[in-house]
Amino acid sequence: MIDDIIKLARINIQKLEPYQSARRIGGEHGDIWLNANESPISCSFKSKKKLFNRYPTCQPENLIFAYANYVQVLPDQILATRGADEGIELLIKAFCEPGEDTIIYCPPTYDMYGVNAKISNVKIKEIPTFKNTWQLDLLKIQLNLNKVKLIYICNPNNPTGNIIPKKDLIFLLEITLNKCLVVVDEAYIEFSPKESMTFYLKKYANLVILRTLSKAFSLAGIRCGFILAQKEIITILNKVISPYPIPTPISDIAIQSLNINFINLMKNRVLELNSNRIWLVDKLKNLSCVEKIFDSNANYLLVKFFMFQEVFETLWNKGIILRNQNEKINLKKCLRITIGTRLECSRLIEEIEVFSKKNMSKRGLNEK
Ligand SMILES: *Cc1c(COP(=O)(O)O)cnc(C)c1O
Repeated sequence: MIDDIIKLARINIQKLEPYQSARRIGGEHGDIWLNANESPISCSFKSKKKLFNRYPTCQPENLIFAYANYVQVLPDQILATRGADEGIELLIKAFCEPGEDTIIYCPPTYDMYGVNAKISNVKIKEIPTFKNTWQLDLLKIQLNLNKVKLIYICNPNNPTGNIIPKKDLIFLLEITLNKCLVVVDEAYIEFSPKESMTFYLKKYANLVILRTLSKAFSLAGIRCGFILAQKEIITILNKVISPYPIPTPISDIAIQSLNINFINLMKNRVLELNSNRIWLVDKLKNLSCVEKIFDSNANYLLVKFFMFQEVFETLWNKGIILRNQNEKINLKKCLRITIGTRLECSRLIEEIEVFSKKNMSKRGLNEK
């Protein structure tokens, strides 16, 4: 009987592979979590709110003003969402006709663009980036714009860590003007703040930017993100967002995190993590099981390993959890390592060193 009920689900949902979140794959195994690009350093917040009998306002004004002040755009160009993930979903809901319209994204990249399109029965064109440089194939995108409503570009890109240069994004904005939206996912932009496209919101009506408090702000647990766009686009998105997307305690904490003292703390954490990343690259370079390290501009590193599976499992068994990227296009034998505290980074290096000593000499790869 339950089989008949299961068949009531839409066909595309029956076929859907759900997003494999780090917490879904790794559960709460291990004690050094380097698999979800979270911040390893947290700030402590207290909500001053005590009473919760009333619904919150849909878009808490203080929150919008605080974020507007932080990103230097107008308050009416901002929508607060339940994480950047909800932003990805709202754009598809609002702009893509199911069964008809198409989105473009450029793998290897964040999986949620595709997952949300599949849930909504929106078509997908995957236009892979060039192998190893991870830059956009602009000409191929240009030749594939028919019926395309949204182009998702992740910058810095997850999981490769590279930057898409502004001139490429501007080229995309120019060729799609009046035809489709270019959605730049800036989830990690605080780690490379000069690369932000917020300045161009004034100039390009088809530019949309996704932001989040989950990464540099160390607030993945509260689920708060933002969409930045022209006010007319924000008005459209306001039609499809749920009536009360931001719970009262969440806006309270998010507002606190956007005051100048906390922003300065965030900036210091970013400096610390960026320097840990440089340290980690330097140490990894000398390890014989490391085949290639990709330049990163964010709080994670993509690394190609000899014996990647054994490296992954050995670390897992030691309680150090990384993210396996082997199944993704052009990422054979790659693992993604979230930058942790310096202590976590050195624990990681120690364990990989032990692994290399034990396993790599046998394979004659030690004289690299
Ligand atoms: C983590 C991440 C998100 C999701 O952010 P939330 O605000 O936690 O939903 C969006 N895009 C990219 C590229 C991410 O890595």
